[in-house]
Amino acid sequence: LMHLTRKLIEIRSMLLSIDQSDALKLPSIVVIGSQSSGKSSVLEAIVGHEFLPKGNNMVTRRPIELTLVHIPAADGKAVEYGEFPGMGLGRIKDFNVIQRTLTELNLAVPTSEAVSNEPIDLRIYSPNVPDLTLIDLPGYVQISSMDQPESLKEKIAGLCEKYIKEPNIILAVCAADVDLANSPALRASRKVDPLGLRTIGVITKMDLVEPEQGASILSGNRYPLHLGYVGVVSKSPDSKGRAQTSTSLIRKAESDYFASHRDIFGSSSSLMVGTDTLRRRLMEVLESSMASSLHGITNAVQLELEEATYQFKVQYNDRRITAESYVAETMDTLKLRFKDATQQFHRPIIREKLKSMLDDKVMDVLEQLYWLDKRAPELGELAADARVKPESVDSFWRHKLEAASSLLTKSGVGRDSTLLVADGLRALIDSIASADPFNYHPRAAERLIQFSHMILRDRIGVTSDQVENCIKPFKYEVEVDDREWEQGRQKAIDLFEKELSMCETKLKELRKKAGGSRRLGGLIGYVRNLEEEDRKRKARKWESDSEEPELAPESYKYAPAQILDARHAILYNDRLNVLKLRLAALRSKRCKAGPGSDVLCPEAFLNVVADKLAYTSAMFINIELLDQFFYQFPREIDSRLLYDLDRQEIIEFARENPAVRAHLDLQQRKDKLEEVMKQLNSLSTLRADPQSAPRRQ
Ligand code: GDP
Repeated sequence: LMHLTRKLIEIRSMLLSIDQSDALKLPSIVVIGSQSSGKSSVLEAIVGHEFLPKGNNMVTRRPIELTLVHIPAADGKAVEYGEFPGMGLGRIKDFNVIQRTLTELNLAVPTSEAVSNEPIDLRIYSPNVPDLTLIDLPGYVQISSMDQPESLKEKIAGLCEKYIKEPNIILAVCAADVDLANSPALRASRKVDPLGLRTIGVITKMDLVEPEQGASILSGNRYPLHLGYVGVVSKSPDSKGRAQTSTSLIRKAESDYFASHRDIFGSSSSLMVGTDTLRRRLMEVLESSMASSLHGITNAVQLELEEATYQFKVQYNDRRITAESYVAETMDTLKLRFKDATQQFHRPIIREKLKSMLDDKVMDVLEQLYWLDKRAPELGELAADARVKPESVDSFWRHKLEAASSLLTKSGVGRDSTLLVADGLRALIDSIASADPFNYHPRAAERLIQFSHMILRDRIGVTSDQVENCIKPFKYEVEVDDREWEQGRQKAIDLFEKELSMCETKLKELRKKAGGSRRLGGLIGYVRNLEEEDRKRKARKWESDSEEPELAPESYKYAPAQILDARHAILYNDRLNVLKLRLAALRSKRCKAGPGSDVLCPEAFLNVVADKLAYTSAMFINIELLDQFFYQFPREIDSRLLYDLDRQEIIEFARENPAVRAHLDLQQRKDKLEEVMKQLNSLSTLRADPQSAPRRQ
């Protein structure tokens, strides 16, 4: 029959790991008593070892869930050990170590909190212990001392109250030399168990009162308890300090004491005395209490299981997952998403991007060398004049074209184009890393970003050197055929038209802001005037070196922001004029004639150069950067994200995703409930044994 308790103790700890709801609780024995009532001594006598924290100040600050597991003695030798499940300390054979660990765990509770509700799980395996679960609680405080806050009393009382609820059995520890009327343990138990149906009284320090008085307490006439009182002596009278007392000595002292008063405590007295009696009594009570809880708990578990099964079906369609499968799936998704995104990096697309970057460069070069030049209109006139031969054009323009071409080819195309593509890759990785499901996995996302940046860093230098190397010939000479010329010319026209309409839009905006074109005109006239005066004043100052009063601020008719707008309008106007002139040139017969007119139509020529640069860059960036990255990236995912994780980290990773966590939790709950149900069923067949119970039906 002891088999039953043991099984139920196992089931009890499984149920505790499922949840703390009261419906799923199997009974345990809860030990309460005031400080110094001898609570620790009793527990240690039951276990047969000293293992509880000792000290003057209150040291039990957390409940200790003590599970005793009886194991057979190996070769007649006692292999006893303790375990703190979930702490990773393994088997502890030295009970001093258990005691030290408990002390540390207790002292780790901040003094501001004084007591903690969080139980310490301790299991003790020994051939000398019965199968029992006991919960040791902080002792009731009777007098509040200086360093113990008043609220401590209530806190401990509250904690005890939580544990002495049904279906637990209350072990109320009272010292024989203290009037039972004053026992906080009995008082607390009476509140929740007025008939004393699930309370066992333990009277300690029986040696401190006259045997007759002790016997009268145990008879329980004053405060009757259904489960009775057990009297113990758990202190060796001939030792001074507790540290030296061995439990066997204590046991001997106890049996000696009761033997020497056999007339009162002998077997004929029907009084319960001694630690062995207590142990047996506890086993009986726990066993019968568990047995009577069995039916209720089986029903409760059945209900919970049905609910969990139903939810699992409805929410997840019975689909089982594991942390491993989730991690693998996530990595596959990552690779797939990456592969899809690589479409954006096909060569024509890259070429297009590079070209547009180079178009900007061409515009910059044109502005710098041509548009800001005072002789710019001259070039337009030359292009329009059919009599002018390109060969005879002033060498000034030939030099200009060479300068422009070299400005473009030497503008750091290798580096800029490589960085442009690398930035694109970086943005891609960032977007993958911040999207579902990686938004749930910040650490993995960070690692993803880290290693992809590292691959890029490794490749950027090589690639940009290689690109720069391959465009080197263009720095000396660019050959242009008719077809390329025509394309370049068209492209230049497109770009200029776009630029033109951009300038017009801006001007329109400025006009609107100024309140009409007449007003903007007035504003521009004013600013031009201002600039003219400024120039004159500077010139005079230069000549005479004399101080002239600055324009007084009140003479400004317009706000500074308006003046700034007018300046912008002037710039856009000038740009518009240049663009119109150049568009006319690009559309002229002269320009259409072919690459021979490059001096007169630098825009078309530079466009061809830009196109060649884009083509060559794209080719080598593809080989040196993209191919390498696309090859390395999926491999790095495996080696840095996947294979790096141990079992624990895989579980942590999966549980970072709330949807997966909920799925795993429900699945686990269902599994555990199933297991518990199986165990409970096997027990009921045990109980249905015809020898232990009459067969029904
Ligand atoms: P706790 O604070 O309730 O855990 O009480 P302890 O077990 O630490 O015991 C308090 C004091 O009472 C200690 O000094 C023990 O040595 C002493 N003590 C415990 N049991 C007995 C006993 O049966 N007889 C005598 N004489 N002293 C005891």
